[in-house]
Amino acid sequence: MVLKKVKKFYIGCVGNMKLLCQKCNTEIFVNENMIMIHDNIWNTFFNKSDIYCDHCIENILGRNITVLDLNDALCNYFWKEKHNL
Ligand SMILES: [Zn+2]
Repeated sequence: MVLKKVKKFYIGCVGNMKLLCQKCNTEIFVNENMIMIHDNIWNTFFNKSDIYCDHCIENILGRNITVLDLNDALCNYFWKEKHNL
């Protein structure tokens, strides 16, 4: 219930920003395919300004994303909810 309200607010805030995955060109949505992984993992595989969808992140990492990879960014809650993690 609370998450739904937060979700609406959060999506509203970033609603004007169009993010495209720089590898597959898929549009990235906060409540769909956006994930934020911990800096130490990100910095090992990616540049700071890189933008990738969840699938391309998994491809580049060469494995599936786990909850341990995800930081406490709000988009990760949506992603975990969506993937039943
Ligand atoms: Zn992609």
